Formats: sequence, structure tokens, C-alpha cells
Amino acid sequence: MSATPVESSQPNGAQGPVRVVDVWLEAGRDGRTFTYGDYQQLGLAFGDLVVVRLRGRRLQGLVIDSRPLRVETQQHSQSLQPVDALLQRAAVDPDWRTWLDAMAAACHTSPFRMLKAALPPGWLGQRGQPASPGRKLWWVELTRTLGDPHPKAARQHALLESLKAAGGGAWQRDLLNQGFHAGMVQSLQVKGYLRREQRIAPASESSLELQGNHSNEDGLEPPRDLTDEQQAAINRFQSLPDGSGLLLWGITGSGKTEVYLQLAAAEIARGHHCLLLTPEIGLIPQLADRCRNRFGRRVLEYHSGCSDGERVRCWRRCLQSEEPLVLVGTRSAIFLPLRPLGLVVLDEEHDSSYKQESPMPCYHARDLALDRIRRQGGRLLLGSATPSLESWSRLKPKGPLELARLSSRISRQPLPPVRIIDMRLELAEGHKQLISRALMDRLAALPSKGEQAVVLVPRRGYSTFLSCRSCGEVVMCPHCDVAMTVHGSRSQQQWLRCHWCDHRAALTDHCTACGSSAFKPFGAGTQRVMERLSEELDGLRLLRFDRDSTGGRDGHRRLLARFAEGEADVLVGTQMLAKGMDLPQVTLAAVLAADGLLHRPDLRAGEQALQLMLQLAGRAGRGEKPGEVLIQTYCPDHPVIQHLIDGRYERFLEEESTLRKQAGLVPYARACLLRLAGESAAATATAGTLLAEQLRPLCAAAGWQLLGPAPAPVARVAGRSRWQLLLHGPTETPIPLPQGSVLWDRLPKDVTLSVDPDPLQL
Ligand code: ADP
Ligand code: ZN
Ligand code: ZN
Repeated sequence: MSATPVESSQPNGAQGPVRVVDVWLEAGRDGRTFTYGDYQQLGLAFGDLVVVRLRGRRLQGLVIDSRPLRVETQQHSQSLQPVDALLQRAAVDPDWRTWLDAMAAACHTSPFRMLKAALPPGWLGQRGQPASPGRKLWWVELTRTLGDPHPKAARQHALLESLKAAGGGAWQRDLLNQGFHAGMVQSLQVKGYLRREQRIAPASESSLELQGNHSNEDGLEPPRDLTDEQQAAINRFQSLPDGSGLLLWGITGSGKTEVYLQLAAAEIARGHHCLLLTPEIGLIPQLADRCRNRFGRRVLEYHSGCSDGERVRCWRRCLQSEEPLVLVGTRSAIFLPLRPLGLVVLDEEHDSSYKQESPMPCYHARDLALDRIRRQGGRLLLGSATPSLESWSRLKPKGPLELARLSSRISRQPLPPVRIIDMRLELAEGHKQLISRALMDRLAALPSKGEQAVVLVPRRGYSTFLSCRSCGEVVMCPHCDVAMTVHGSRSQQQWLRCHWCDHRAALTDHCTACGSSAFKPFGAGTQRVMERLSEELDGLRLLRFDRDSTGGRDGHRRLLARFAEGEADVLVGTQMLAKGMDLPQVTLAAVLAADGLLHRPDLRAGEQALQLMLQLAGRAGRGEKPGEVLIQTYCPDHPVIQHLIDGRYERFLEEESTLRKQAGLVPYARACLLRLAGESAAATATAGTLLAEQLRPLCAAAGWQLLGPAPAPVARVAGRSRWQLLLHGPTETPIPLPQGSVLWDRLPKDVTLSVDPDPLQL
């Protein structure tokens, strides 16, 4: 598709053979190609990023074709608008584009949207304001010469040393990037070692390229001597052919990261780039630090904590770098233009944050990584203490992945024991608090022992299930291995529904298993639980760790630093709490109500609950004192709880996969979720019905099932009504959706549709 912009302008001073270029621009939903003249003779070719005008607006677009202006069309060319400027030469290469187009098709999104998601934000589309002269940042300076009495804490001392090495002053942002906490800077300031002021950072200055005290490559840390298991894993990986992958299954603290680092070192030695991904931005600092200690300046970061400018500079360095780089990032870093790419690591590969759910494209970084190395070379390493059922079921001989295991901890410390507290007994004995007596005793004893605890309050599973507080019974769907969800807000008009197969049932007020009337919806809001907790824990110092209290670029780190410095006895938080923190004073990890994790209305509820609780268990007892894990639940006999006690994660995977295979559920079936949202509930529902009619014959022909339209689990968000259609069918068959924009063409303007292939959450 090609069109000439309406306005014409007469270029000045164009001489010699002029070329015409097709530029892909953000116009409409899927982008369009427009033709321009390269009168400045910039030598434009495929992959260049240029600035042009379209209907008076300045846009940045991608050159996708370039050809000499033919004499017979010379006349026509007079009306072509000029390319204003070249922004980046060869921003993408043809192979990369081919890969991206294939991924767009796999994700049922348009190639343009995929491209826009892949490039650094702000690069494609409306031309932003030219970079402002600089942002205001904190500048930190030493006030005394070292040699004065030193602060005792080793990290504080290291921070001062680092400042000294940097010539006495540094941007606070760079210090944080080196793994120092903002809290440390502040406390050193209070103690008079430092001075801080806000200064304008020069626009060209990138913290990502001037990283700290390792600019002199001499101070780099040497590799450690590997354990036999680590060595075996490395040998295994290095014997793999290009384009293949390995699952590194190692319990927490077994030294997986050391394996990543040594494999990366080997790739660097061969002149290959490496890409190390973590699921959450909160986990970036520790991985980036360990990489920098080992590899120094060749380590770059790419994630949402970087400014747009930093991301663009990082992309450019990937394009231009003559020496191999190590990129540490979150899922979107999978798109970085690294060639040759030798190694891609997904740490905590089971984590659902590797999947982008919205906006489109709804991609999974693991799938993209595997596809990328198959096309472009390189090898994939998936690391986890609790692998996903998806990856486990793709092990050889059935699937493409090799396996290596690390079964003992480097420290030789055993994993902490898990104790289950039966909340049914608490109720039977008339104790109705959120916190059981056993947990209360443990918590109350913390301050006198100088120990700390983390308490996990499951985030409200955005919907409630029906459960019996006397016997633990939960109403499950008779067809699927999923808890039924309570629908409707007023108690008179509530019903139960299965989100997987749409089975519906009426609510009852007595337990069918034991007859108890303590049978009601489960799932109080996190906020209320927090309030009640602080009443019950009166006398203990609490810190809250959730999305609200950890906002901002360094929110995580700041909060953890405050906790590490002893500001509180108990850190209370949602799911995020379990992820990769290393706090030596923590001897107790507790889950307030495991039921909220076990019975989320989701096929993967059990798997994810076990992964989360095993990870949480890994948080306790990392220092010298042994740890303990306490789990409160109404369902102590639930298989997930049983496997948590015996620690045999593999047995769980075996049983779970048998169950899912029998029931024809993922990953032994495929699914695709179509999400609709609009201001008007009626219009959105109608659009859903029309869409279902359009798709029904396609599904029937392909042997797929279509469910819905039905209200989404959260039926209204930010004033928009949400409905969904669920498709499921056999694995290895394509999702029966029309290609291109057909699905969107008939939608009313104010209703949006997104397609989520192989959804992780309904
Ligand atoms: P994981 O990533 O599996 O949780 P880590 O890589 O963080 O484990 O290793 C746990 C600790 O053991 C880290 O402090 C790490 O530096 C240390 N470690 C790892 N491998 C070795 C080794 N071969 N020799 C000595 N210490 C090691
Ligand atoms: Zn009961
Ligand atoms: Zn069902």
C-alpha cells in the first residue's frame, strides 16, 4: 500500500540521481507506507529510521524500500515530499524484520504494532520534543576525605570508596545502578559524610554507559571454581548445537547465576553477545551488579526503569558495538538488535511476567527467544528452581529442551522446614483472628531475638470463590480443575461460573461436604487484611511491600533497604515479596491464607501457588540462623500443600500434567482469549456477540471450541466494561482466527479488542 501525501513541497537544491523511498509510518491502526524523495541524498536504504512530514505532522518512520527515481516518473516526483532527516542508519536489519513479521503473525497482531513494541519507546511514530537540555538529578559528593572515622557498615563504606574512585562525586542514579540503596545515601548524608544537591544532568550523559567504578577493567572479579554439578551443567550446555535450549533446574542458592556468568564469559570470548533476562524490574539490580562485577563496562541495562533516551542509546550501542556486550533486561529486551547473539538466559523462567498481557502484542519472551535463536543462531538457557509445566513438558525426548539439574545448595544449608497451620482447627477452637496462635507466638518473639519475618498476603485473586471454613471444601467446576467464581455484586443475585468452560451453578449457603454454614465467599481485599493485621500485630513494627508502596524507579530497593536496616520487624506484602530478595535477618516466612493462592480461578493456580510458596520458603534462613516457613490454610490436604511439605516439586509436575492431559487442558491444548472493552456495557456485549458469530464457523471447521461472550473476571475497570471470548483447541493447530485486520474492521469505534494467544490468565 502506498500513497502520496496530499501536500506537496518543492525541494531546494536537489541535484544528481535522486532516490525515492517507501517509509512505514504510524497511520491508522496498523501503520501505512508512504513514498518520499531523498533529495538530500542521504543514501537511504532498508532499515533506516527517518523523519518526515505527513499532513503537517512530523513523524518518525522506517524505510522499507529505496529505488532510483526513474526518468519517466520524474514529473510525478516533483510532488513527493522530502525526507527531512536521517535519525538512525540501519536501525533494523532484514533478518530481524523477517523474524519480527513471523512473531506478529504468531501473536495475531499487525507487523507495525509488533515493530512499534519492539523498538525503543518514542522511536517510531509522532516525533517527540527534541531532547530537553537535561533532567534534574541528584548529585552526591563526599564532604570529608576518607581517612576520617569510617561508618561501620561495610556497604556504606563501599559506597564512599566508590565515590572516591569516581573522583569524589557521582549521580545518585549511578550509585543505585551499582546496587547501593537510596536509604544508604540518605543515612550517610545525615551522618555528614555526603552532600546532595539537584543538578541538571547533561543530555548526552548516560548512566548506562558510564557505569561506576568498573570502568577500569582491572578490578573485575574472577570466575569461581565450579562445583561438579555446575561444571556438568556447563558441559551439557556447551555440547548443544546452535539453535537449541537447556532447562537449568536448580534449587534456590544452588549457584545458577554463576552458571549464567560462566556461560556468558565463554560466549564473550567467542565474540558473541549475551542477553540475560529477569521477569521483574525489581530483580534487575542484583543481576546487573553481578554481571558488572564480572564483565565491567560491557554490561548494559534495558528495561522500563530506563528513560526513553537511555533505551535509544542502548539500542544504538547494540547496533554499533564492535565488542561483545552483555545485556541485562526485562522481557522487551528480547528484541534488541544483537548480532551475533550467542546466549539468551531467562532467569526464573516460570514467572508469568515474561508474558505481556496488554497492550497487544501479547507475547511470551520464552517463545520469542526460542524462535529467535532457531532463526538467527545462539542458544537458550531457562533457569528456575520451580520450572513451568510448559517447559518441563517440552523436555527431551518429547520436546526440544535438554535438562541439567543443580540439587544442592552452595552453602550446604538445608531448605527451611515447612509447617502447615490448619485454620479449620483455629475456627473450631473459637479463634477467629487472621493470624493463628502459632504464627502470633513466632512473630511476637522476633524483636527480642533481633530477627525479622516476611508475611505474604495473597493479592486478591480479582474474584472470589466459595469455600467452607469448617472443612476447607471449595466449589470446583465439575468439568475442569478450576474453582468456580462468584459473580454479581448484590448477594441476592449472585451465581457461580467457571471461566474455563462457562459452566454455571447457583450459590448455596451450606457446605455440601460437611453441612457447616461457615460457607461463604473467600477473598477479602488486601487493604482490609492489612488494616486488620496491624490491629492484630499491635506492638510489632510493620512495613508494607506492595505495588502501592514500591512505586517509582527505585521503590523496591528503597523499601527493602529500609527493612534491611532494621526499620521494621515484619515485612507484609503481596506476591512480589517472594521474588529474589536476600535478607539475612529473615528467619520466618509465612503465608497468611494459602487458599487465596490455591483457588484462583485459573488452570495454573496450583502450579503458580506452589512455585510462589517454594520461592518464599527460599527467603527464610539465608543468614546464619536457620529459617522456618509457616503456611496458614483451610485446605491442609490440598496436593499443593502436600508437595510443599515434601518438597518434591517434580512429583507435583507429574501429577499435574497427568490431570491436565486427561482433562484436555493447557499445555495439552491451546487457547486464545479475545478481550473486548468499551464504555458502554451493552455495546461491548453486542460487539462480542457479533464477533462470536463471525468466528463460530471458523472454529467449527478447525475443531476448536468457542465460549462466550462472557463478562471478564473483572467486569469493569477504569469505567470500561470488559467482555471476553475464549477459544480452545488441540495443540499444534493454528488458532482459527482470520489474518489481518478483519477482526477489527467491523468493531464499533469505541470498543477495543485485543487478542491474547496462549493466555496465562483468564
Ligand atoms: P541461585 O541463582 O541458584 O539462587 P546463586 O547463583 O545466587 O544461586 O548462588 C548462591 C550463592 O553461592 C551466591 O552467593 C554465589 O556467589 C555463591 N556461589 C555460586 N557458585 C559458587 C561456587 N562455585 N563457589 C562458591 N560460591 C558460589
Ligand atoms: Zn464443609
Ligand atoms: Zn469448567
